[in-house]
Amino acid sequence: MSSHNYSRTSQKSLETYAVDDVYQAASSRASGLTKEEVSNRQQIYGPNRLKEASKEPIVLTFVKNFTSLMAILLWVGGAVALLSHSIELGIAIWFVNIVNGIFSFVQEYRASQATEALKKMLPSYARVVREGQEEKILAEELVPGDLVLIEEGDRISADGRVVFATDLQVNQSALTGESNPVYKTNQADEVPDKSLLERDNMVFAGTTVSSGSAKMIVSAIGMETQFGQIAHLTQTMVDDKSPLQKELDHLTKQISIIAITVGVVFFFAASFFVHQPLAQAFIFALGMIVAFIPEGLLPTVTLSLAMAVQRMAKDNALVKKLSSVETLGATSVICSDKTGTLTQNEMTVNHLWQVSGQYDVTGLGYATEGDIRKVDGKKASLVDNKSLEYLVRFAHLCSNAQVLPPDQDHATYTVLGDPTEACLNVLAEKAGLTLHNNHTWAPRLKELPFDSVRKRMTTVHELSETIDDSQHLSITKGAPKEMVELCHFYRDGSGLHTMTDSVRQQILSANDNFAQDGLRVLAIAYRPLEREALTDETSWTQEYLEMDMVFLGLVAMSDPPREGVREAIEKCHRASIRIIMVTGDYGLTALSIAKKIGIVRGDDARVVTGLELETLSDSQLKEALKGEIVFARVAPEQKYRVVTSLQELGEVVAVTGDGVNDAPALKKADIGIAMGITGTDVAKESADMILTDDHFASIVHAVEEGRAVYHNIKKFLTYIFNSNTPEAVPSAFFLLSKGFVPLPLTVMQILAVDLGTDMIPALGLGVEPPEPDVMHHPPRKLTDRLLSKSLLIKAFLWYGLIESALAMGAFFVTYYLHNGNLSHLVASGQLYREATTMTLGAIIFCQIGMVMNSRTSDQSIRQLRLFSNSLIDIGLVVELLVFLMLVYLPFFHELFNTASLGLWHWCYLLLCPFVIVGMEELRKRLADH
Ligand code: ATP
Repeated sequence: MSSHNYSRTSQKSLETYAVDDVYQAASSRASGLTKEEVSNRQQIYGPNRLKEASKEPIVLTFVKNFTSLMAILLWVGGAVALLSHSIELGIAIWFVNIVNGIFSFVQEYRASQATEALKKMLPSYARVVREGQEEKILAEELVPGDLVLIEEGDRISADGRVVFATDLQVNQSALTGESNPVYKTNQADEVPDKSLLERDNMVFAGTTVSSGSAKMIVSAIGMETQFGQIAHLTQTMVDDKSPLQKELDHLTKQISIIAITVGVVFFFAASFFVHQPLAQAFIFALGMIVAFIPEGLLPTVTLSLAMAVQRMAKDNALVKKLSSVETLGATSVICSDKTGTLTQNEMTVNHLWQVSGQYDVTGLGYATEGDIRKVDGKKASLVDNKSLEYLVRFAHLCSNAQVLPPDQDHATYTVLGDPTEACLNVLAEKAGLTLHNNHTWAPRLKELPFDSVRKRMTTVHELSETIDDSQHLSITKGAPKEMVELCHFYRDGSGLHTMTDSVRQQILSANDNFAQDGLRVLAIAYRPLEREALTDETSWTQEYLEMDMVFLGLVAMSDPPREGVREAIEKCHRASIRIIMVTGDYGLTALSIAKKIGIVRGDDARVVTGLELETLSDSQLKEALKGEIVFARVAPEQKYRVVTSLQELGEVVAVTGDGVNDAPALKKADIGIAMGITGTDVAKESADMILTDDHFASIVHAVEEGRAVYHNIKKFLTYIFNSNTPEAVPSAFFLLSKGFVPLPLTVMQILAVDLGTDMIPALGLGVEPPEPDVMHHPPRKLTDRLLSKSLLIKAFLWYGLIESALAMGAFFVTYYLHNGNLSHLVASGQLYREATTMTLGAIIFCQIGMVMNSRTSDQSIRQLRLFSNSLIDIGLVVELLVFLMLVYLPFFHELFNTASLGLWHWCYLLLCPFVIVGMEELRKRLADH
């Protein structure tokens, strides 16, 4: 049947066909589609993608920036100014409103582009069989009729009919709300009147595989799937408002109220106290309102979060929600896996151990150069040593991994599958076996896959020779302590023996010796299968295959720490962030590695195993969590309890995970971190952050960025609030003196600072790189407020008043130097203009000093690389150019009430930043002592 005959009606009824007929009904076959069929169907059905819900039109977003409460206030203000014949002011206020609106829009747009780009970095993949070959493709490229492989942890990418299943269970909660997994089979289902979702042989896009594995034929893609019909959008990236943004929202409202109150007070004071005409009093009040409103605050914060998220992505940490950035900065405990995150997950077998003796294995990494040596250093041969031969052969037979040698595309060895198994292949080759021949020597009939709760895996084989009178046997490899209990015999150089307690002890102490050196140890055992059992495959249960086994030996492998892990851990210690290793590996191995890389520094660290954890009460666990602790042999489910207890102790917890069972802990944690390389789709979906390199150091990097963002927003806020006091104080002078002191800073001048010179440097502070000492302090508490009392005092009172003093000083000095006294302050003419220009100039030059001060919180400005932030540099240049224009271009004199300045004026102004910087240096030095 050609692909063109493939109709949508046939997809609907795939569930009613018997397995053998499904292929035909779907115009497919057991070897999958051909490339040609795929491209034909792609043309007919399009990509396997959900149409995104229509976004807010860009015009609307643009317009919204001009209709906020503040913007409306400014529109009205401008109109009143125009009506009262202050044409320039009216135009200026409207102009400012437009510039501010465009500025906010651009920030918002850039931030949304940044997160948009991140979405593209999280593609989903599917494994298909096409033309008989297994391939990994983008889920988007699936077509109806494709043969897809799914397994535990996968998110299913299209609807499909199951054609082969082993213990398949699927979580369909995304579609049905039912969180218990549902069993699926490949049996035909002809019961009428059942909804598609109730069919046991159908699986659906958007649901996840809880356990088992299966093959399915795609029945529907994209919007045709059940998921597509219900939901219109899959959200990989959630853009909800972060607590910080909510706090700022709230804050902006509060400040607006304060600003309007100040404006009203100033309005009445001006009209009743100083008897100004109403229109002028209104404009005056408007100036105060503009001065107090932190324009551009929200979009700047969003932008600085989005930029941090982009920088993190370059450093291999994909953050899914902007709000995670702030939480990252507050992280106080990191619970980390061991294998792959702290270590390289590049296993090399170093030793073999059998009851009759030990062997060393030479060679490095996955290269097959090397051999097996006896303790006396002589090469060991498999030829006359059956038990060693079985150990090496069986270890390889029980492996699913492949090691591909370096080629044009890959500079190093590539491992397909689990590295713990890959090194067993390398071992077999070092021993002189040919992998292919070994597989044909004992073809595999069945597999009980590895699972992290059982901590072992078993395969069943048919042999081409008899072993222990049987031609069939099962091979089990796994955690030694648990396996030894299941072995009732052992085989060593001298033959087959019955297991005794003392031999068990011998095995366990050999295991401990290896583990104390930080090696990962697997036990290998086998069981000859009875002839009767072979006729009935259903009797091959786990219990049956894994009892009365014959112990063969131990395989000890090393997994070196990842590069940079020690340094990252050291950084965490300095930053008072605790690291708790939570691993499935053996206690002694875990402890030894924890010591090697510096996680554990004392001698009395406690190792708590999964079994022990179950016996601990909540309060005992919390007590234990206060000291140095390593969790070993824990099942992923137990991480949830560790995370909960830590949170109850007030910690902000980041936790890593990769499997399906890690999902609850990942969700519970303040920051759930999934592994990008080894992680399942389920883990990635439950996490807040995904590490594209699985490396622990990337977590620490992200924490550093998170801290820096929070600091930067604080710097930004201090800076913009700082100029509010000197903008308000001059007006207070005017009012309180009942007009004796002419207005030292006009409304237009306030606008020039707030919406002109302050803008770019403030933005620059939002993108400062992390300070070198950012990881030298303990983590911030989540309850800490951004607008702390100390920030407000520092901005409004301390620097606000110093700047006010310098600004008012500049104003009065101008009169004093001209008249010799201050008894007559003319309110118009050249002298008045010079004086107000000086007030304006002093504020601008103080802000130049302030931007430099704000760049570091505690360090001296001398430690700064002065020109390292180009946005600030540009901001300063623009700031100076704007001021020079206002001063020297006569065109602006009338509008901004400015005048040209002479030498002594400049001397005063140039002194201002030095005073501001000097005061802050003094404060920093005093704070140091
Ligand atoms: P982490 O949780 O830190 O990544 P881990 O990789 O050691 O540690 P698991 O993968 O749960 O944790 O492994 C637990 C134990 O199961 C291992 O210590 C080992 O004894 C055994 N094991 C691991 N992989 C296999 C495998 N492929 N086949 C058989 N047994 C295995």
